Amino acid sequence: MARKAKTTSKRKAASKSRASTKSKSYKTKTAGSRVKAPSKAAPVYREDVGSCAVPEAPLRAIDANVDPFRLSLIRSIEKKWVNGTVLNYFFFKRPTRWKGSKAQEDAVRAAFAEWKGLGIGLEFQETDDPQEAEIRIGFERGAGAWSYVGRDAIDHASDPNERTMNFGWDVTTPYGRDTALHEIGHACGYPHEHQNPNAGIVWNEQAVINYFSGPPNNWSEGQIRHNILRKIDPALVEGSSWDKDSIMHYQFSAGLITQPEQFQTQNLIPAPGLSKVDIDRVRKFYPPINRMPELKPYQSQRLRIGAGDQVNYVVEPTRSRKYTIQTFGRMDTVMVLFEEINGTPRYLEGDDDSGSSLNANVRQRLFKGRRYIVRVRLYHAQQQGEGVLMMW
Ligand SMILES: [Zn+2]
Repeated sequence: MARKAKTTSKRKAASKSRASTKSKSYKTKTAGSRVKAPSKAAPVYREDVGSCAVPEAPLRAIDANVDPFRLSLIRSIEKKWVNGTVLNYFFFKRPTRWKGSKAQEDAVRAAFAEWKGLGIGLEFQETDDPQEAEIRIGFERGAGAWSYVGRDAIDHASDPNERTMNFGWDVTTPYGRDTALHEIGHACGYPHEHQNPNAGIVWNEQAVINYFSGPPNNWSEGQIRHNILRKIDPALVEGSSWDKDSIMHYQFSAGLITQPEQFQTQNLIPAPGLSKVDIDRVRKFYPPINRMPELKPYQSQRLRIGAGDQVNYVVEPTRSRKYTIQTFGRMDTVMVLFEEINGTPRYLEGDDDSGSSLNANVRQRLFKGRRYIVRVRLYHAQQQGEGVLMMW
């Protein structure tokens, strides 16, 4: 396959390449009040607290000739990070209405630790530099709980002065701790479970609109459709069935759901905390990374992986110079290059060729004596095993 030239249809991915990310307007997320919803604090319905409203993010454009199977694989992965990414998070101190107390910040730190404690390959690291942070957190009361979904945070909120996540109420309560887990679930790339098209939920649409347009949410109909009534793309669902205990599921009061019938008369209240399905699926997509073979110049590496899988290579240059690292073959991949500094991989460059006829390619000056990591996640391959990764 011909070498690609960078084009505007390709995006820098899983990265903080701010120069190449457009800062998109999501004005909806500052309008109105919204609060996170469904927590699973206690088996009690919290009508005093609202629900989480994720900001709308336009879908990335994909070549029109991409077939539906390939497209569904792309859509299922494109918002997620390459495994092994260190997500740096930052707590705003200013403006003061965004600042949280130490207790509030600690509750969010604990929620990051709980996700990490599952043994996943993603890392979370606090930073005091908003420029370094993929996740920038405010605690503005009355402004709802919300977060961008996965890589939307870098594609649509590239301004370091902008929040990518907000907590609109106390997160030190059991309910609030679930709120923190839920928003971090979004940051890892997970959508709302009650929008799972396999759930079989039939809404009483008018009742839902009436409920969420009133306090404490006060949402527009657009927000209600985006966060509740809209079925998400089947491609975004990992696993086939509905997990009503997922941390990504809201609470719903009786009467908002017509089917399954039982929720016409009883509240739907997810069990507290992360569900078994939540835990299994994050461990599957972001498994621990143990072994990293070395990628050496001019030695091609065959990519024998399936859709959604990832390979990781160490690069330890013996000469300082510019290197090109590229995939070959008819594949959709996202490739991200990191430099390991004090044991922590720091992002250098990322490239996502999915949905185009081009190949992922990064070109960087690498230095002798330093250590780098290349991560390649496969969306789709025309034929498994035909792809190759090479550095020169
Ligand atoms: Zn949410």
